Amino acid sequence: MMDVQVSFLDQLFSEGVLYDSGVDGLYARSGEFEEVISRFETFALSYGKDEISEAMVFPPGMTMQNFETSGYMKSFPQLAGTVHAFCGNDHDHMGLLQCIAAGDDWSKHQKPTQVALTPAACYPLYPILSRRGPLGEDGAYVALQSYCFRHEPSRDPARMQMFRMREYVRAGSAEQTMAFRETWKKRGEDMMKRLELPHHVDVANDPFFGRAGKIMASGQREQELKFEMLVPITSEENPTACMSFNYHMDNFGKVWDIRQADGAPAHTACVGFGLERLALALFRHHGFDTARWPEGVRSALWG
Ligand code: ATP
Ligand code: ZN
Ligand code: MG
Repeated sequence: MMDVQVSFLDQLFSEGVLYDSGVDGLYARSGEFEEVISRFETFALSYGKDEISEAMVFPPGMTMQNFETSGYMKSFPQLAGTVHAFCGNDHDHMGLLQCIAAGDDWSKHQKPTQVALTPAACYPLYPILSRRGPLGEDGAYVALQSYCFRHEPSRDPARMQMFRMREYVRAGSAEQTMAFRETWKKRGEDMMKRLELPHHVDVANDPFFGRAGKIMASGQREQELKFEMLVPITSEENPTACMSFNYHMDNFGKVWDIRQADGAPAHTACVGFGLERLALALFRHHGFDTARWPEGVRSALWG
């Protein structure tokens, strides 16, 4: 497979899988693409069904206060998005319209709101867990889905600005959360085999910002806190992370004051599936016509 980044995006447009908007990383999806995502979600939910204690779906925004508490601006300011809105009177409105008509920068007429765009599906969960008080002995095991935003415009169709993550989050003891992550690494491999996608798991790091970020990224690698399920989509040399397996130790437990039954800060781990990336991997390897996908793949997804 050659490096086909640009042409795969063009192919997705010409095949009517995605629709161009003029902004890189912001696309409409076809009905067939959405069908694949919903089939994949059902497929994913068939793993470890009895372990899940509850399910939640989040809107694409979270509260600004929780966003601040999360510390996202410390680590990833380059990726963050916040919602601004016009909050003025009639007079201010006139000024706004004049500004737009003149082709000037009208952002100064917009004020910050209480809403930030959700950067990862698990972020809005932690304050909910925190409010409930200490976890029970079994901890928590939650299935989530959310639209996420990251300001990383790209011509690589697998790097969108707005995309969905399905996540499983485990909170509890170090043992519970690490066992959860190991189980999901194996399940991830099993899923990829059944979907007949070339794949491998590797240790990874998040793109922490700036000079201090380099140290954080290498620490994260050394401690093997993040693994990714890599699948070639737009490049053989640089395969794409379609799943990630993260162990946060007790960092989020401390940040959010989530406690174990004995009062110690909870450990947390999350497994994230990039839903658009998984759909793109399937289209890339099995073709644009889902009716002609290999029998094994069809039976995994369509049952
Ligand atoms: P990458 O290294 O490719 O930037 P990531 O490490 O930032 O990925 P995570 O932060 O672990 O990814 O996000 C969880 C999952 O969300 C990833 O495994 C991936 O499948 C998906 N994902 C992340 N960023 C994007 C994006 N820009 N577009 C589409 N899916 C994404
Ligand atoms: Zn997460
Ligand atoms: Mg990233």
